[in-house]
Amino acid sequence: MTYAIVPAGGLGARMGSRRPKQYLALGRGRVPILVATLRALARARGLDGIVVAVPEAHIVATRRMLARFRVPRILDVVAGGADRQESVWRGLQRVPEDAEWVVVHDAVRPFITGALVDAVRKAAAGGAATCGMPVRETVKRVRDGAVETTIERQGLWITQTPQAFRRALLWEAHDKARRDAFAGTDDAVLVERLGTAVAMVPGLPQNLKITTPEDLKTARAWAFPRHRA
Ligand code: C5P
Repeated sequence: MTYAIVPAGGLGARMGSRRPKQYLALGRGRVPILVATLRALARARGLDGIVVAVPEAHIVATRRMLARFRVPRILDVVAGGADRQESVWRGLQRVPEDAEWVVVHDAVRPFITGALVDAVRKAAAGGAATCGMPVRETVKRVRDGAVETTIERQGLWITQTPQAFRRALLWEAHDKARRDAFAGTDDAVLVERLGTAVAMVPGLPQNLKITTPEDLKTARAWAFPRHRA
């Protein structure tokens, strides 16, 4: 069995809105970002259920919202944690015992396809996989408004989600990170720390992570090109 965990526990500080960004609509009269993401995820072929981790104060309202929009394959809505990693860990506690595979996907990336989820899941045959895009721009490290160094971009990829893991491996990776007090910004890095290979497959150029108000404008324009955001 394969289950998905969707960390949606952020408060969206960088968005500057009162409501966390995953609850903002993808346009006037349109569905909330979280609903769009979950619907897209549910289009993947082999997913048996989805666990969503949200801020504790939003659990009841989220359950109601997902029912109202008839989002398929929701297994449960659980309380997220203080950071993304903790939210995934809490979601992992709720994944049923019969799970062999776990897919993790950010709540704020609605532009995925079912085919991408399936491709990442297949690429995880060795234990773990992520998707991403090769870096095309020149990358520089900047300090106090000045360039410190230019980083060789050969071999650099921007990492996206979905990511997929054998459940036992993801559990071990999170458990070790917790014991070491290591905080990662994705789940793959926790597996990398175990010395286990993580496969990388091409993601999608439109797989935007909606973080700032500018991202939301972009997302609205992409979702509804003929409407003004
Ligand atoms: O804030 P960040 O860029 O890490 O957000 C990536 C994803 O992690 C978002 O979907 C966000 O809702 C989620 N997140 C979470 N729990 C937190 C912080 C972020 O599930 N405490």
